[in-house]
Amino acid sequence: MFARVYILDAPYAIDRPFDYLIPASLSGAIRRGSLVTVPFGAQNKLRRAACAALVETTENIKVKPVHAVLDDRFSLSEEMLGLCLFLKEYTLCTFGEAVRTVLPPGALSEVPNIRVRKIFRLAREREEILSLLSGKSLRSEGQKCALRYLLDIGEADSVLLREQPGVSAAHIGALVEKGLIAYEEEEDYRNPYAHFGTKGERKPICLSEAQQKAYDAIEALLLSAEAKAALLYGITGSGKTQVIMKAIDRTMAEGKSVIMLVPEIALTPQTVHIFCTRYGGRVAVIHSSLSQGERLDAFRRIRDGKVDLVIGTRSAVFAPLSNLGMIVIDEEHEHTYKSESDPKYHARDVAAYRCGQSGALMLLASATPSLESFYKAKNGKYTLVPLRERYGGAKLPTAVIVDMREELRLGNTSPISDRLLTALKNVYDREQQAILFLNRRGYHSQISCKKCGDVITCPRCSVSLTHHTERGGSRLLCHLCGHTEPAPRTCPSCGSEELSFLGYGTQRVEGDLSKFLPDMPLMRMDADTTGQKLAYDRMLEDFRAGKADILLGTQMVTKGHDFPRVTLVGVVLADTSLYVSDFRASERTFSLLTQVIGRAGRAGEEGIAVIQTYSPQHEIIRLACRQDYDRFYEGEIALRRALSYPPFCDMVQLTLMGEDEPLLLRSAKELTDSIGKMLGGSYSDLPMTVFGPFEAQVYKVNERYRLRMVVKCRLSVRTRNFFRDLLAEYSQKRGVSLSIDLNPLSI
Ligand code: ADP
Ligand code: ZN
Ligand code: ZN
Repeated sequence: MFARVYILDAPYAIDRPFDYLIPASLSGAIRRGSLVTVPFGAQNKLRRAACAALVETTENIKVKPVHAVLDDRFSLSEEMLGLCLFLKEYTLCTFGEAVRTVLPPGALSEVPNIRVRKIFRLAREREEILSLLSGKSLRSEGQKCALRYLLDIGEADSVLLREQPGVSAAHIGALVEKGLIAYEEEEDYRNPYAHFGTKGERKPICLSEAQQKAYDAIEALLLSAEAKAALLYGITGSGKTQVIMKAIDRTMAEGKSVIMLVPEIALTPQTVHIFCTRYGGRVAVIHSSLSQGERLDAFRRIRDGKVDLVIGTRSAVFAPLSNLGMIVIDEEHEHTYKSESDPKYHARDVAAYRCGQSGALMLLASATPSLESFYKAKNGKYTLVPLRERYGGAKLPTAVIVDMREELRLGNTSPISDRLLTALKNVYDREQQAILFLNRRGYHSQISCKKCGDVITCPRCSVSLTHHTERGGSRLLCHLCGHTEPAPRTCPSCGSEELSFLGYGTQRVEGDLSKFLPDMPLMRMDADTTGQKLAYDRMLEDFRAGKADILLGTQMVTKGHDFPRVTLVGVVLADTSLYVSDFRASERTFSLLTQVIGRAGRAGEEGIAVIQTYSPQHEIIRLACRQDYDRFYEGEIALRRALSYPPFCDMVQLTLMGEDEPLLLRSAKELTDSIGKMLGGSYSDLPMTVFGPFEAQVYKVNERYRLRMVVKCRLSVRTRNFFRDLLAEYSQKRGVSLSIDLNPLSI
């Protein structure tokens, strides 16, 4: 027998199966999906590989033997093998990249880090122990206490034993040494959410009439046997979560399992709390700040059938649940569902594939669905499930647009308009809370010289440096590569002392507000203040507990949070994402504004949203203020159709990168020629429109230059082969690298 394997760290050009002999010593230990080590190349260096098939014959005449088999607990199931092949086909990644994506990091180490739990029991007869306890020979109180506890309870693990008063690890060790107690080892799972207990409490969910109608439509799909997809389109505050939870209950009642994806910033302690208390020990939570061991163990728990509900961020879509009944993608329009590094997959595509394989329901939910999804819903590819009223009769917030040009004319140079300031004072008087959103961190976004006009840019990237204030003074920071330097007093180019500081970020707003409203405690939440997830979680909890009146921050403040006392939402500058040269700029701005405005007035209290902008007439801003998704969609889809943008075609982005600029330019020319030749020759049947090469929006990042080409086409097996051929050719080149992204979220 031979194993047909993929080498896991193979470069693109040799990412194909290789045959290896299965030696007698390993016969029976290797199957489809096994992870193995094999000798590879002229030096026979040992490489990790995955077995994709067992075959009886091979054409390879110098076939080498498999060296060893890795831990079987992490071998690939049939379904995961299928997923890997799917990823390889649909994202053009290598098989190894796919394997590393479906398995948790740490699964591929020689000795996986699996924790064992010691279970202690008495090793002597009870009478014997009793007389020992009453006699004088055993003097250590700690040891006695441990023995008494085991007499009482029968068995206990080391954690439990050490919780007994006066008992230390040394005492337990001494008892083992004396042969009075003994232990067995048991595999253990690290689960940071274990303290929620195992039982769970399913409080009944009482839906409003509108919610019930939405739920009924979803239930009907759940109970039908074939694979299907639905879009729960519910306005902000309509209570989508309750509908989803009821659908989860129903799926689990059918004995099936569920994956629920949420964006990282919506996975707050509050969300985790709601789900863990409801579903108890049958839940696994997966996100990026789990330790490697915790991820590994979440994977094992799921694989061992101890979990029916997985809640997590993008990569949780690969959770190895069996008997899948539903995959929910909450806030499905979020860009974080698309991976930016290889494999460049979209969680929606993976979910659709998995649901197709197991006859499950893919349930997308959003108040501002992606244009692609809403288009599919309108055309019957997805079932459209609308939820058009806010829960509990809450009204949509009243939105006020403030023209910031007018403020300037009136001599107000602060980022806070009079209108917003008044609204904030009002909130203070009524003891309510406010959220302020500004999509830029730092103090000033640019420093330029009044004399020579130079803008201070990052030495490693082609972007201007942002001015940040810190306790120790002020510094310049590059948001792309992290480069930092002290803020200069004079122009680095001409020495002039006249520098102008332009554009404001969250720090500037914080500074101004502390002057205008010194009595109103403010909390600033952005990448500078929330270095770790814990800090972010803590700030949200503190705000909920009323420790601040104002929550000011970047995108982090806009998503999915439900703060009952928030009645005012302020958008400090609505224009930041509007004039980006990307065909999705309108969609992103509309969705961001709609979501943040929707945070106001959710618990019966009337809400108000103040939108500050330099373009008060802009259609997108007006539609977002009215929360009018339908009108936005009609306008935008007409534009996409007229200009032939997705969903009316597929877009492919080719990026060439390299440190040597002349070499990069030459390669771009070669790439253009190759594409031309292929489209004129063996691929002449493919209709494609090729744009570029042109410099990427940010040309240089971290000393590497980037040139782009964009191709409009229809993705198919054949177009994918076309791009695969290009990748294979370029993966051999030195000094430049080519990366291809099928339907990227930003161009
Ligand atoms: P959405 O996610 O659609 O914007 P949420 O799920 O945050 O809306 O719901 C808004 C508020 O209404 C939340 O405070 C939620 O707890 C409450 N709510 C919604 N539906 C119900 C229900 N059926 N029973 C009780 N409270 C509900
Ligand atoms: Zn100058
Ligand atoms: Zn930089």
